[in-house]
Amino acid sequence: MSFSAQFSDEEVERYARHLVLREIGGPGQQALKAARVLIVGAGGLGAPAALYLAAAGVGELVIVDADIVALSNLQRQVLFTTADAGVAKVEAAAVRLAALNANVSIIPIAQMLTEANARDLIGGCDLVLDGTDDFATRFAVNAACVAQDVALVSGAIGRWTGQVGVFAGRPCYRCLVPEIPPDAETCAAVGVVGALAGAIGSMMALEAVKLIAGAGQPLTGRLLIFDALAAEARTVRIGADPHCAVCGG
Ligand SMILES: [Zn+2]
Repeated sequence: MSFSAQFSDEEVERYARHLVLREIGGPGQQALKAARVLIVGAGGLGAPAALYLAAAGVGELVIVDADIVALSNLQRQVLFTTADAGVAKVEAAAVRLAALNANVSIIPIAQMLTEANARDLIGGCDLVLDGTDDFATRFAVNAACVAQDVALVSGAIGRWTGQVGVFAGRPCYRCLVPEIPPDAETCAAVGVVGALAGAIGSMMALEAVKLIAGAGQPLTGRLLIFDALAAEARTVRIGADPHCAVCGG
């Protein structure tokens, strides 16, 4: 088997552990190289997801985040170093990811994703990863993904519990979360264990690799819930809501 037509010698060596996997191999690695992936939020989940997707050789990574790196981010946002404090997250991320894999084109966008720009940002992407912690952004991402038929890998964490799901068409994220929960918590208020961000962010990257390479059974229409304190995970099926504000009839 020869990958030389599509890959340089450097790439063949870099991606050797993917290329020998039956479920990825040359075609899967080629699909990764051809993919354009949007990561919304370079936070606890976006950081490990971006590292693994850059390492995996995704062709184009668009990273959207308006924040600057704060010292309190470093407990879990492994993309950044102490020296990055005060720097725009997407700029620090671009430097770090380019150092990891120069084959990947990193497109940093120092903006908040909103209803107004969601369609422009998501249009042309093959896949979106959302690891943001506010529901207005999540709703805007989901609506744009549904409208443009782009698959969404969604992750969330708080305290010791995390969840990850994949949405492609129906059911959509809004079927799972119809309205902003009145008791919505933020990690800033209730805390989160750093390594949990690594576990869930890495699972988001893993689902992305599966979707792009066509490997296995993605979490499409399902939600994996991980209870870190109990060290237990369960996966539940998400029902399509016929009255969903986004994808309902
Ligand atoms: Zn829906």
